[in-house]
Amino acid sequence: MTLRNRIALTFMLANFAVLVLVLVLLYILTRQYTHKEFFNRLEDRAHIAAQALLEKDELAHQLIEEINRRHSRTLPQEKEYFFLLDSLQKIVANTPEYISMGLLKTIDRDGIVEFRSGKLSGVGIRYEDNQGVYAAIVVAQDLYGQRKLQNLLRLMLLFLVLSLAGVFFLGRWYAWHILQPIGRMIRKVKKINSSNLHLRLQEEEGRKDELGQLAHTFNRMLDRLEAAIETQNLFIGNASHQLKNPLTAIIGQVEAALLEQELSNGSRSALQAIGEEADRLNALVRQLIRLSYPDNVNGQQPEWRFDELIFDLVEECKETYPHNSIAIDFSGMPSNPEKLLYRGSYQLIRIALTNLLENALKFSRNEQVKIRVHFMEEKLEVSIVDKGIGIDPEDQPHIFKPFYRADNARGYPGYGIGLPLVEKIAKMHDGRLSVSSELDKGTVFSLELPF
Ligand code: ADP
Repeated sequence: MTLRNRIALTFMLANFAVLVLVLVLLYILTRQYTHKEFFNRLEDRAHIAAQALLEKDELAHQLIEEINRRHSRTLPQEKEYFFLLDSLQKIVANTPEYISMGLLKTIDRDGIVEFRSGKLSGVGIRYEDNQGVYAAIVVAQDLYGQRKLQNLLRLMLLFLVLSLAGVFFLGRWYAWHILQPIGRMIRKVKKINSSNLHLRLQEEEGRKDELGQLAHTFNRMLDRLEAAIETQNLFIGNASHQLKNPLTAIIGQVEAALLEQELSNGSRSALQAIGEEADRLNALVRQLIRLSYPDNVNGQQPEWRFDELIFDLVEECKETYPHNSIAIDFSGMPSNPEKLLYRGSYQLIRIALTNLLENALKFSRNEQVKIRVHFMEEKLEVSIVDKGIGIDPEDQPHIFKPFYRADNARGYPGYGIGLPLVEKIAKMHDGRLSVSSELDKGTVFSLELPF
């Protein structure tokens, strides 16, 4: 889950908890108030009923009329019950079960009792008359109150859902607002690689918060990295240049010595072996010097045809590896020659592809090697596919480090600096080198180059 959604969700849950608490409290209080109000009405009705029925004989005719008029507007399911408490021994038959002797006794003792039974609410009052002490009980259903509470509950649920949706989107917007600078940083950091370590994150003047500190710390780390890599490159470059001259001298001397006619067979083969090793060392030193080149492709490069490079390369490798077969898959190449034009360093890309192709041939156990070139809208991809020894998944993350060689490559010649060089050339062109491999089955190296 993205950080943005997580913040929005946390926002929503916190609001949900607070809202539910407030709404539940509000509902409980409203319910209590509604019940109280209804009990008060029932109490009034009990008094009116008692007056109307028990004091008919004593009250003025007009007053009785008035009481009857008010009394005639009954409540839903309203029922009234009267009991003479003085002589009551037991409750008469047909009385509803919620009216018990206990209830009547409590009315007699407390003067008033409120009770509920199912949907009905009731109030019983003690009413003294010159004919005796009565219990007047009125029960009714608070339909209006119940509907009011149901409506309130529905409204609350609707409000809860709407406000939660609102809070979620507000949270997402807020998170987006907060995380926007981080998004910008991520985009910038993605662009930074070993070939453009000079790039820095923008440090806003006076910004002292966490994001300002993050940009500052990251930039200082890049300063240190850039310095370390430059020192390393300088060292590799210097050391390689120092090695180059004596090596050239050795190769020259060996070649000169081999021209001598009177050499014994032993000395000749020893000199030839020295020459071959010196050549290999020379090739290594040349690669090391390239590895320490500055990381950018200088200036505007001329355009050249990519397919011609592939054909040249294949011809060259066929000479070095005469026993292997190399196939070119043309299916991803456009038929229009204009579209085969590429602008980039011909020399460097040739070095990169030669390295990949030679590796494939070297590790392929003489199986066929395939080159696939796929042209797309904004990039081209060259894949070199072999069915050779493959690379152990544990080795795969390390093979792009200088001098790293997998265990299964030990019997094959090499120094472990080809792939770092290819990766560097890819980055110099804003491209990407990737590998997918299965041990003992084969390997695919893909070089992506943007147009
Ligand atoms: P080198 O080939 O000189 O050893 P590289 O830098 O070109 O050095 O390759 C590094 C390592 O990656 C190799 O030693 C080998 O373990 C592994 N590797 C590269 N290409 C292949 C391939 N096509 N098949 C199997 N392993 C490979």
